Amino acid sequence: MSMTDTGAYDELPRPEGTRERRRKPHERVAGRAMHRVDQTTEQMVRSVLAYAENRLRMDPVPLDQGTLTNAQLYERLEGVICEQASTPDEVLGVYASVIAPSVISADSPRFLGFIPAAPTKASLLFDMLVSCASIQGISWLEASGAIAAENTVLSLIAGEAGLDPRTAGGTFVSGGSAGNLSALAVAREEAKRRDPSVGRWRVVVGTDAHSSVVNTLRLLEMDALVVETPDHRLTRADIERGTAGQDLSDVAAVVCTSGTTNAGIIDDLDSVGALAQERGWWFHVDGAYGGAGIFAPSLRAKYAGLERADSFILDPHKWMFTPFDCCALLYADPAKARRTHTQDASYLDVIHEHEAWNPTDYAYHLTRRARGLPLWFSLAVHGVGAYRDAIEVAVRLAAETAAMIRAEDHLELVREPDLGIVLFRRLGWEEEDYHAWARELHQDEVAFIPPSAWEGETVGRFAFLHPDTSLDLVREVLDRTR
Ligand SMILES: *Cc1c(COP(=O)(O)O)cnc(C)c1O
Repeated sequence: MSMTDTGAYDELPRPEGTRERRRKPHERVAGRAMHRVDQTTEQMVRSVLAYAENRLRMDPVPLDQGTLTNAQLYERLEGVICEQASTPDEVLGVYASVIAPSVISADSPRFLGFIPAAPTKASLLFDMLVSCASIQGISWLEASGAIAAENTVLSLIAGEAGLDPRTAGGTFVSGGSAGNLSALAVAREEAKRRDPSVGRWRVVVGTDAHSSVVNTLRLLEMDALVVETPDHRLTRADIERGTAGQDLSDVAAVVCTSGTTNAGIIDDLDSVGALAQERGWWFHVDGAYGGAGIFAPSLRAKYAGLERADSFILDPHKWMFTPFDCCALLYADPAKARRTHTQDASYLDVIHEHEAWNPTDYAYHLTRRARGLPLWFSLAVHGVGAYRDAIEVAVRLAAETAAMIRAEDHLELVREPDLGIVLFRRLGWEEEDYHAWARELHQDEVAFIPPSAWEGETVGRFAFLHPDTSLDLVREVLDRTR
């Protein structure tokens, strides 16, 4: 995330002396100056926008690595905030020299770990605009324009998912974890409405469900009915086998993943969705990482059955090229979500008086950033077709990487990639070898590619998402396994 390598900020004052340079009391600036456009503000606008512009123009973004120890970090930050004012350039200098270099750039094409990010320049710019406009995205009364624009994006996603874009709806929340929690809260409330006699509900999940689902169930006081998935892909047959002979009257929902975070595997949405419908279970699909694949024509068939979902999440901050933090949360029947999430308070009556869409009614939140707007702007500027193409790039790169691994005697592909994630083993390597390999690649700023695990064994893992990640980089990373 660093700006330091550009040299542009080397002349900014260093944090040293922040504490010594205290103003005398009579020099104090009145608090109201904070909101005025005075000379300091003018200088601050220039400096901060110049910094932002520089970061925005980086192509590619440098990977970076934290080089300061924890103690050094806190030491360099000590005293930056004190009773007295500092000049914006001084503080920006601290950001440029201490904070930014201690953040690995998730949006670098060399970031191949976890789930990377690749926000478009358009979405980054518009995120700044959303901040500058201080949009409170809570209610139609306050922000009808912003919410209407966000809703056009939600309709687009609903349509691609096979839901009815005229009736499906929801809101944007901070991330997949918040989306899963909000959706499964609705699932539980709907189950309670159906059968108030059940004390504690269960939710069917496969062994590869995301950790946030497990946490969600704990918070909602529901139990996971974990079903073994021999192929790591939840199917109807797995559920029937795993629950045979059980009384399932306390099952509120089933959760499918459309693509798992570790391996990009899409559950059998069609057969599981059909089972859920037959049994009257809520069908939730967690597409936080892989949901965006619905936009890629080559992948669309893998999502068959998604149209059966009662709720569906997709993180645009993952594979839809949007800045953090942004999750699209959709319900097939939003009225059910309103029954769970609408907050009742006398001072809120006024927002419910309209025939209006209040995002606050669809998730556990009240105040919210209009975080769908950067995606709205970028989709409009680039066209949906560019998104389809950019998603296909990662899928193709994963397939090419898999072919490269298959061609090497010392490497072994764990399984054919479904989406943009490739797992592989290096024959003869122990856990520590993978970690040493990853450490060196990061130290040399070649790539950030922490190892993962597969069935208890440490393995190498590529997570492709950035359209500028090259096959040459993959080759370089794989060459280092020799
Ligand atoms: C990333 C992820 C989540 C969590 O999303 P956050 O945005 O990090 O909260 C949930 N489920 C899956 C499948 C994910 O990949």
